[in-house]
Amino acid sequence: MNDRIYPALQLTDACNKRCRVCLRVPGEKVHHMTRTIFERYLEDIHRVAVRFDIGFQFVTGGEPTVWKDEGLDVADVISALSKTGKIRSITMPTNGKRLEKKEFADQLFTRISHGVDQTVIVGLSVAEYQENLIDGRCLPLGHLTDQARKPGNTIMPIALVTLLKNDDTDLILKQNYPDVFQRVTPLAPMGAGENEMAECPSLSLGSADKSNLGSFLPYFRRDVTSRLKIHDEAFDDIPNRHIMNTLSFSAHCGRSPFVDKAWHYCLPFRDNPDFDLAPVGGMTEKTLDEFLETREFLRRIRSMGVLDAVESYRPKLKPRFREKLDDLLGPDTQVSVAYRGCMVCKKIAELGIWDEIRKLNPA
Ligand code: SF4
Repeated sequence: MNDRIYPALQLTDACNKRCRVCLRVPGEKVHHMTRTIFERYLEDIHRVAVRFDIGFQFVTGGEPTVWKDEGLDVADVISALSKTGKIRSITMPTNGKRLEKKEFADQLFTRISHGVDQTVIVGLSVAEYQENLIDGRCLPLGHLTDQARKPGNTIMPIALVTLLKNDDTDLILKQNYPDVFQRVTPLAPMGAGENEMAECPSLSLGSADKSNLGSFLPYFRRDVTSRLKIHDEAFDDIPNRHIMNTLSFSAHCGRSPFVDKAWHYCLPFRDNPDFDLAPVGGMTEKTLDEFLETREFLRRIRSMGVLDAVESYRPKLKPRFREKLDDLLGPDTQVSVAYRGCMVCKKIAELGIWDEIRKLNPA
């Protein structure tokens, strides 16, 4: 069976909201996917599918429901992706602002359902910073679940809950929408959230202390005990460094490309040209494997885990980079646990260590 990949297609970074900890940069209008580029993406998908099984296809933004180009909107995009017959599951995250209007929700999900040959997962972002859970009620979630129950509709609603360190959004939703599946993730220090580290569930790599995970602790515990195949009792004493290294094997490193005008190796490095795979229209079944052939440190991340990979280069690092690494691995530095280790990897990059390693090991 082919390896599985999970590409995320960004239609636009335009949005109809200005969340204070937006993953992107609120109000930034750098990327708008044209119809022509999208059609080239469909060709890429057919080529890539020769080598990879496309597990999930994310159709994201900014806000995908505000995107339009040459008569196409997100319903047309999802239909065209479904009709490739190459994608197991299509997921559209949304902030739900346009779903507050029942007529819009009805019209959009009827069109999506009629245009696809599979169930489409619609992830509604519900979070403190989305300000869409008012007095325990979430209007767009109500409209979304109504649409999911409508005969002939083929959408599956899930609540995408991004938890801050001190946050009970998940508990309120569980109480008021017990039938809605929640995918709970921790706030990530990316985009506008980059300066909000204090609100990001985090831990130090130099201890076993897990108290800084806050409201995300029970989800982290469940994820860790299932992926490390350990008993609950063992969880508290396991060194955080070992946990984050092991979790990074589940970060889909090299299997979660992010696509705007170009295919990027992964979201955290979309702005780093060193991680560009190919322009849209230029992706082939060989591109990802050939790219990994030229990036030894990425191959080490995938085979050893992100922390063992960087540690394996320690002897070759100059003293100042070893000091930075010791700092990162020390008890006084907090790292975000978002994306199962990718934020640790991003931190290593921000310290200049991956660049230094690339200089040491060009291949
Ligand atoms: S952030 Fe690092 S670990 Fe995560 S996918 Fe990218 S290269 Fe891999």
